[in-house]
Amino acid sequence: MNVKLAAKAGFCFGVKRALEMAERTVETSPAVSLGPLIHNQQVVKRLADRGIHVVDTLIEVTAEQALIIRSHGVAPSVYKGAEDKGIQVVDATCPFVQKAQRLAAKSAQMGQQVIVMGDKLHPEVQGILGWAGEQAIPIQTVEEAKELSFYPRLSVLAQTTQPAENFKRIVQELKLHTAELTVHDTICNATAERQKVASELAETVDVMVVVGGRNSANTQKLAIICAERTKTYLIETADELENTWFEEAKCAGLTAGASTPDWIIEEVYKKMSEMNETEMDMASWEESFQELHLGARVTGTVVKITNEEIFVDIGWKSEGVIPMNELKIARKTRPEEIVSIGNKISAVVIRVENEEGYTVLSKRKADEEGAVDRLEKLAESKEEIPAVVVEVVKGGLVVDVGMRGFVPASQIQLGYVEDLNQFLGQTLRLRVIEFDPSKRKVVLSQKIILAEEQAIKRKQLLETLKEGDVVTGVVRRIVDFGAFVDIGGMDGLLHISDMAYTRIKHPSEMVTIGDEVEVQVLKLEQQTGKLSLGLKQLKESPWVRVAEKYPVGSLVNGKVIRIVTFGAFVQLAEGVDGLVHISQLADHRVNKVEEILKIGDLVSAKVIECKPEEKRISLSIRDLMLDASQADDELALASQPEIKPVTIGDILGKGILAENREE
Ligand code: SF4
Repeated sequence: MNVKLAAKAGFCFGVKRALEMAERTVETSPAVSLGPLIHNQQVVKRLADRGIHVVDTLIEVTAEQALIIRSHGVAPSVYKGAEDKGIQVVDATCPFVQKAQRLAAKSAQMGQQVIVMGDKLHPEVQGILGWAGEQAIPIQTVEEAKELSFYPRLSVLAQTTQPAENFKRIVQELKLHTAELTVHDTICNATAERQKVASELAETVDVMVVVGGRNSANTQKLAIICAERTKTYLIETADELENTWFEEAKCAGLTAGASTPDWIIEEVYKKMSEMNETEMDMASWEESFQELHLGARVTGTVVKITNEEIFVDIGWKSEGVIPMNELKIARKTRPEEIVSIGNKISAVVIRVENEEGYTVLSKRKADEEGAVDRLEKLAESKEEIPAVVVEVVKGGLVVDVGMRGFVPASQIQLGYVEDLNQFLGQTLRLRVIEFDPSKRKVVLSQKIILAEEQAIKRKQLLETLKEGDVVTGVVRRIVDFGAFVDIGGMDGLLHISDMAYTRIKHPSEMVTIGDEVEVQVLKLEQQTGKLSLGLKQLKESPWVRVAEKYPVGSLVNGKVIRIVTFGAFVQLAEGVDGLVHISQLADHRVNKVEEILKIGDLVSAKVIECKPEEKRISLSIRDLMLDASQADDELALASQPEIKPVTIGDILGKGILAENREE
């Protein structure tokens, strides 16, 4: 029996996209899909094996799980519900369905009565109705259209998988029910093309087999279209095929719904070809089809490179094509960076024949298969593996370990990572901490290696380090009370009070993260590993020369830096403060320091006590004032005119002289 496969069959763009999004999501986060991702039990089971389970309502979803919206789309209320619960949404709604949703919402906003042509129980239609608002009316047949009342303005759109013919008939009927009809043809090309090709094929064969989910609307439509032209059977898997269906048939046709994966189509094709074997007459490409089964590993030579794909001569009738996303783990790499024309490469068949007749290959999958054994051994031996960071994703990094490996943000380094992008392109030193070949899941850690190395260094340091040692370290973290300095194996605390002899408000005035600093070991507790470091201890204390600089009785100038109830502290030099006691502020009684001084005042005072060993200098403004007043008195006295001593004789003599003159 001759078996003809429809030129366009199987996964459509929207379904393929949704599956790829789901697979990418589950690599980095637990995920669930709201309803089956596609209407195909076998694929749903495969997805469940990879960890993507199906939920029916948002109540079943936790905030840790990513919620995948399938290609059918959902009503706006679902996005709102997810947002309220803090659930991350991965929206795999097919762009064609999104277009229908947008048009429905816009039509309703414009005050048009929205008619959605489609199966009102289908999730896609229910989603579109959600966007169109409560007034929208779903209909599926011309009869239902006939029952509609008259509306001033009507807008009609269709479920993407509805037959175009039916839509046209309904549009004709709707014209009788309105003064103004807006028609949005939202039927998807993929569906229409598959239906057209299936219909043409059905005209030429004795029997048609449509393979796909029984609950898949587009598969059912294909079956209906084919059944109108020839004897047709709808099956989900090859096991359902029956010999009796083909007893009289010379030629059978095969098509598949948009949610049917290639591997199921291939199984059905093979089994159909084996039926009525004596009459089998296979065309040459069909022979190739049998050899080039899905998952086959092939070797070929690169013959052409474009920006989107690589063409490989695999020695068959048609060339193999490797799309960019199947070339390498790194999704953003340019093809020329990976292969050159003439290179021999291995790849895995992921689609026997695409719409253009090429065999679609994946080099990435071939690399992954090769990596499985190696990663299994590495997971067991805990050996270090270097790997380049190829992508930054939510919550971590993707590295190339022959397959996509995930390094959670918490496993990159010992401290907190603020910006993951800094690691892009870097080579990390990694260890496999989780490996599940069946789910293609590899989780790696660099932190675990760094932590072990740090523990060894720390042990060595604890054995050799002693108080008083001067070491070099790097400032790793700054807190209000100091800074943590990594001295190469362990962190020590450089307390704010040990940073400088002067008063500082915050450690950031002295150091910044990443600074290399020389510090002294002040204290080391062997038991706990607690390490205290000092910076100021490496400088000469400003109190060393205080006795000679500020002897008792000397006059000093300084700035008021602090006021307390019992006096004011005056900074004489960096790190050297003197106290002017309240009783020494003035030559009269002072009740409050602020009556005389304020912070920032420049003052002169007299040193009345100097005790460097206690870091104490007492100053007096009062003494200075008294000294000044005494000096003034002395000066006043000194400026009096000289008075000659006077004798009684002088006085009497002068009196006699005066009397004599009067006489
Ligand atoms: S059938 Fe068309 S509209 Fe539906 S998911 Fe596929 S591509 Fe999208």
